[in-house]
Amino acid sequence: MEIGSNFIKNIMKEDVETGKHDTVITRFPPEPNGYLHIGHAKSIFINFGLADEFGGKTNLRFDDTNPLKEDMEYVNSIKEDVEWLGYEWENLLFASDYFEEMYERAVLLIKKGLAYVDDLSADEIREYRGTLTEPGKESPYRTRSMEENLQLFEAMRNGEFGNGEKVLRAKIDMASPNINLRDPVIYRIAHATHHNTGDKWCIYPMYAFAHPLEDAIEGVTHSLCTTEFEDQRPLYDWVVRECEMESTPQQIEFGRLNITNTVMSKRKLKLLVDEKYVDGWDDPRMPTISGLRRKGVTPEAIRNFCMELGISKGSGAVDSAMLDHFVREDLKLKAPRTMGVLNPLKVVITNYPEGQVEMLDAENNPENPEMGVRQIPFSREIYIEQEDFMENPPKKYFRLFPGNEVRLKHAYFIKCEEVIKDEEGNVMELHCTYDKETKSGTGFTGRKVKGTLHWVEATQAIPAEFRLFEPLISDEEEEIEEGKTFLDYVNPNSLEVIQGFIEPNMKDVKPQDKFQFFRHGYFNVDPKYTTSEKPVFNRIVSLKSSFKL
Ligand code: ATP
Ligand code: MG
Ligand code: MG
Repeated sequence: MEIGSNFIKNIMKEDVETGKHDTVITRFPPEPNGYLHIGHAKSIFINFGLADEFGGKTNLRFDDTNPLKEDMEYVNSIKEDVEWLGYEWENLLFASDYFEEMYERAVLLIKKGLAYVDDLSADEIREYRGTLTEPGKESPYRTRSMEENLQLFEAMRNGEFGNGEKVLRAKIDMASPNINLRDPVIYRIAHATHHNTGDKWCIYPMYAFAHPLEDAIEGVTHSLCTTEFEDQRPLYDWVVRECEMESTPQQIEFGRLNITNTVMSKRKLKLLVDEKYVDGWDDPRMPTISGLRRKGVTPEAIRNFCMELGISKGSGAVDSAMLDHFVREDLKLKAPRTMGVLNPLKVVITNYPEGQVEMLDAENNPENPEMGVRQIPFSREIYIEQEDFMENPPKKYFRLFPGNEVRLKHAYFIKCEEVIKDEEGNVMELHCTYDKETKSGTGFTGRKVKGTLHWVEATQAIPAEFRLFEPLISDEEEEIEEGKTFLDYVNPNSLEVIQGFIEPNMKDVKPQDKFQFFRHGYFNVDPKYTTSEKPVFNRIVSLKSSFKL
């Protein structure tokens, strides 16, 4: 499927048709300071998807210019996630491999009188910068000679100054209406070990200087980023031009993905991990790619979701139910249907012969007959769900209650004859009778019942754990009250752990296998907590949704 017509594709088309570029080269440029989230998936989809439509190429480039926050753990997780989403990068690159070239380009700016070493502190620089309505003030160091700047910049590189003592700034225009052009800082001192370059450098380029150089060095034709960078575009173009780069990439902005009830910032996600609100970056409640994967969301669902989002400048929040919709669409024909009993209640079928076990046929997926039929055991003792029995039901309750008859999926009609309780009055088990004539698949039409229950045979049932999720954040981010942070809005009930049983033929399930449990929705076998004794199932989505595309 092709990405629908959009403004970025139109620019690319024109550039290829007019011969401005022979092909389209894009990049996905994550900073390795956290795990990727669903917002990054949109950027990956756009960068890889568009380049592919023009027969072009996409690089995976780590934008690793800040040694303080970056780590190889993040590099590895990002590679894994991009591959899992189904994309192949042309080159795997690190911005830090260009540090020497970036340094030389900065020296070129100094030689052209377009950069200077400033001794002002970070606070002073901020003060001097001015505001939207007030022009900035020039630093007293702005007029340093070219020779002095060259010598000081080299001394910065050689480690002769401490953190924050000096910076290198581009000399552009302190009165520009665009604050980004008021002599932005382009190099800072940071005595820190870098994950790739070790202790080779103690000065590091700032994003606004480094990013356009990275794109130009790689011959990127279209540098796609989110709309927050729109005001930085003049600086981006200035850097490419004044650093005399051969190749001239074009920055184009698109709208960031926001999703209702979803934290979409690595900084905040890291806080949830560090403060142990979740069990890691891959907690199934996290909107990270690894969290979605562990929950059971498929790459196909994520790609179809991105396709539906399309490409525009808008960034209004998308309903989280939309991703769920694409999960159901994807799993509908793929996931086998099965029966899992959550919160079990034992049922003894008193007129069924003791010691007898019969095998019943059960369709694996009525919507996809190719998935075939399995055999499930039935005997005198089964489990149903506590929720499917009420001693004193309200009107229109069609499940089991004393005297009522229901259908057991794939099996027989049973009727509740007796409720067995303990001394405190808790329901311990039910005694029922079955009617042999009502066997599923025999075409019995003698009488009708309104309720159908799922169940598992008790002696062979496999214990299992089911994990149900609610949004991690209970309120929308924008509504945070004064004096509170988003951590005050973490939903204390976002995880519900339930014990139960599954069918015996599921004894060999493997991590990441996906099933539809009758009435409960789609589940994934959790790769972290599943043991050979007990599988753990994460609910991916429930069955019902009011969401409409
Ligand atoms: P965060 O704010 O979550 O930390 P970031 O933008 O700092 O994200 P980067 O690693 O710099 O993270 O992002 C890599 C690419 O992904 C960038 O091009 C960025 O624009 C894009 N991106 C990040 N978040 C989103 C989002 N919510 N929607 C679309 N694209 C995004
Ligand atoms: Mg960033
Ligand atoms: Mg960020």
